[in-house]
Amino acid sequence: MSSGSGSLMWFRKGLRIHDNPALEYASKGSNFLYPVFVIDPHYMKPDREAFSPGSSKAGLNRIQFLLESLRDLDLNLKRLGSRLLVLKGEPSEVLLRCLKEWDVKKLCFEYDTEPYYQALDVKVKSYASTAGMEIYSPVSHTLFNPADIIRKNGGKPPLSYQSFLKLAGEPSWASSPLSITLSSLPPVGNTGNCNISEVPTVEELGYEETQQDELSPFRGGETEALKRLRESIENKEWVAKFEKPKGDPSAFLKPATTVLSPYLKFGCLSSRYFYICLKDLYKNVKTHTVPPVSLAGQLLWRDFFYTVAFGTPSFDRMRGNKICKQIPWNDDDELLVAWREARTGFPWIDAIMTQLRKWGWMHHLARHCVACFLTRGDLFVHWEKGRDVFERLLIDSDWAINNGNWLWLSCSSFFYQYNRIYSPISFGKKYDPNGDYIRHFLPVLKADMPKEYIYEPWTAPLSIQNKAKCIIGRDYPKPVVAHDSASKDCRRRMAEAYALNHKMSGMVSAEDLRNLR
Ligand code: FAD
Repeated sequence: MSSGSGSLMWFRKGLRIHDNPALEYASKGSNFLYPVFVIDPHYMKPDREAFSPGSSKAGLNRIQFLLESLRDLDLNLKRLGSRLLVLKGEPSEVLLRCLKEWDVKKLCFEYDTEPYYQALDVKVKSYASTAGMEIYSPVSHTLFNPADIIRKNGGKPPLSYQSFLKLAGEPSWASSPLSITLSSLPPVGNTGNCNISEVPTVEELGYEETQQDELSPFRGGETEALKRLRESIENKEWVAKFEKPKGDPSAFLKPATTVLSPYLKFGCLSSRYFYICLKDLYKNVKTHTVPPVSLAGQLLWRDFFYTVAFGTPSFDRMRGNKICKQIPWNDDDELLVAWREARTGFPWIDAIMTQLRKWGWMHHLARHCVACFLTRGDLFVHWEKGRDVFERLLIDSDWAINNGNWLWLSCSSFFYQYNRIYSPISFGKKYDPNGDYIRHFLPVLKADMPKEYIYEPWTAPLSIQNKAKCIIGRDYPKPVVAHDSASKDCRRRMAEAYALNHKMSGMVSAEDLRNLR
């Protein structure tokens, strides 16, 4: 045990030094500081049965990204006279053991709205408060506190972006400078018998080395996040003109958006700091785009989904979710697996799904295309199944944003124009007529498939398939569905389901009905 007053800073997300109010508070007036990260088997235990390397919850790319972020955090803490204490086990048990063993007066951690952390935090907070410790758990993962917005809206989350903007206004902290730097931290106290380790490697966590032919090009950590942010905002004109959903989803050598999402997901980058940098930039340019399409508008989309997710019971399910249309999706696992393993026979779709598996990141519109294709566009497979695949493979996988966007894309909530379908053939062609994106991610189509056929190779005459060394049905699959008839069928089923939802709405309360719309 150390004598004097000690604080424990529990890192979960918020893997950064800059704009980290919990860390700042933990270090204030403390003789000792225990900066802790717990490797949670719930997320990290290797699963050899899973469809690709990783745990049942996270693909190896994201685990690698997290470990890199932890290594960077450790280095940054060391620069300030501290270090990261890595422990393994069920987080609440590990935390309780440490709190009992160490002389801790203050327990600090960033507030988390995800159901998993909400449940975890109840256990840890209950122990700490009974033991007389001070608990400090500020909201710093989002621009706004979702609970404040919900309160302002009479206890219900706003269900449209515009109503969210009206309620949110300008964040209160935006007018005063954020605490961006810390100059030093208290030393680490005596860690006694707690089993502390360095940040492990993927091999030390029990993952086998993989033979993946192409790894995610994105490296984790706060240092990389800040560098990436600087590079993005250096180009003032690009930021001022940023307009989503414009932008080329097939641009992979230089993506059309910032690729800051994985850094925001793990909190290597503070969304508030990002927002302030954008506001400063906007002040110094003649004109700039505005929400919902601007870059600042994208951060507000993030907060919008966090707010709705926090205020909606069963947000991640169709059943029991009042804002979700009830749709009789099919349970066709063969179609799901073809989609997941990039074997649909539609090169545009398969290239995007390959980018997801190899990189763990794809452009927003690319995500639109594959999510629409799986659900209401072509295959009519349940959005929850596609959500699970994204949740596992994306390096930016985020509970609120992923579920929110799957609800949107499947026309289950927020967006209801189910007649507007992304064509798996012509949509990508508009941006990339030569099919360079497809050729990169699907090498089987790389060499000699003429551009006339690259989006629909099954239409190429056999002589051309022979010349391209790619026989459809042998070297690359035939399409799993005929797009025109499949999408027509999907539209019909959506119309029927919507009509049924409308009819059923008479049986529920007026409040339920309002929420359903
Ligand atoms: P930029 O365009 O540079 O935007 C900056 C930041 O704004 C992003 O990093 C992100 O934090 C936020 N943002 C941008 N678009 C959205 C959006 N539509 N909703 C909420 N926040 C947004 N994003 C995730 O971060 N995690 C997910 O798990 C996720 N799942 C998705 C699933 C589907 C089906 C779809 C269609 C979209 C999903 N998105 C998700 C949203 C969006 O595609 C990504 O945030 C974006 O492509 C990330 O790239 P970027 O950082 O270059 O974005």
